[in-house]
Amino acid sequence: MTYDLIIVGGGPAGVAAGVYAARKKLKTMLITPDFGGQSIVSEGIENWIGTIKISGNDLAQSLKNHLLAYAGDSVEVKEGEKVEKVERIVGEDGFIVRTDKAEYTAKKVLVATGSTRRKLEVPGAKEFDNKGLTYCASCDGPLFAGQDVVVIGGGNAAFESAAQLLAYCKTVTILNRTDSFRADEVTVEKLKQHPNLKIITNAIPVEIKGEQFASGIVYEDAATKERHELSAPGIFVEIGLIPTTYFVKDLVELNTIGQIVINPRNQQTSVPGVWAAGDCTDGLYHQNNIAAGDAVRALEDIYVHLKTK
Ligand SMILES: Cc1cc2nc3c(=O)[nH]c(=O)nc-3n(C[C@H](O)[C@H](O)[C@H](O)COP(=O)(O)OP(=O)(O)OC[C@H]3O[C@@H](n4cnc5c(N)ncnc54)[C@H](O)[C@@H]3O)c2cc1C
Repeated sequence: MTYDLIIVGGGPAGVAAGVYAARKKLKTMLITPDFGGQSIVSEGIENWIGTIKISGNDLAQSLKNHLLAYAGDSVEVKEGEKVEKVERIVGEDGFIVRTDKAEYTAKKVLVATGSTRRKLEVPGAKEFDNKGLTYCASCDGPLFAGQDVVVIGGGNAAFESAAQLLAYCKTVTILNRTDSFRADEVTVEKLKQHPNLKIITNAIPVEIKGEQFASGIVYEDAATKERHELSAPGIFVEIGLIPTTYFVKDLVELNTIGQIVINPRNQQTSVPGVWAAGDCTDGLYHQNNIAAGDAVRALEDIYVHLKTK
């Protein structure tokens, strides 16, 4: 059978799309290895609107419960399955979605597979992950109010994280591997004026130190090879994102960093019949609420296309 829609992903975007698809009675399949998405590892999410505080695990469970409560006979859920390729059906409208277990066909596809943060790979980074070493300033920044923190990276994400952290941290030190920044010059110049910001260039992270929690970072000066240690209970890593889009790379347009290029008015991709939502897209900002909102916008548009075009 051909589904009206296949949703790929079980994070906030995929689940929001699934709930809306159920309410619109679209014959839908949602495929995901698991529910919850990236913030599942978070101790406490404090900005999921309508919920004062929720752990990543509880958010995952509540997303799944919400979907299953309304899935009925509209939305079939394939949990534990991973999409490997999405292709057009030759000579027809519609798509083949191949997973590690089977293949399915659908008139429309919504990609909501998010991204993974590029991880810091130095001794101590794994050990202190989520114990002082974190990948999300807007999520974990408030935990370090009044304290000294370090941001690793030199792109816009690093500078934006630093700007957020400067609102409540005592000092913010940016460590950048080279002596130039990938971030926009205007952003860099603006932030440089802040009295509590320090920038160290040519600084290669070497080790995260700590006992139960991270207490600091050792970096090497790329020019002199001297090693220095900075004390900081909060270390924010912003060294890039890896969007999970490998399975549509031959189908839709991706930008230079692998994000799916979308029309932000309706979430359409470069290929009619394929939409994308959340962190896998080239949308400017990425958060749980934004991912869910993107997916709702996509679903409204998909519905219009299925019923009227
Ligand atoms: C540690 C951390 C903490 C965060 N805390 C917050 C916070 O407090 N507040 C906030 O608003 N944002 C937070 N964020 C950001 C937020 O998690 C993301 O913006 C949000 O999860 C994006 O949702 P998404 O549905 O687009 O993608 P994701 O959450 O990345 O979900 C992607 C889904 O797709 C599935 N998937 C992946 N590959 C495949 C495949 N091949 N086939 C099928 N399914 C696949 C995954 O298993 C997952 O279910 C945090 C991020 C991190 C990393």
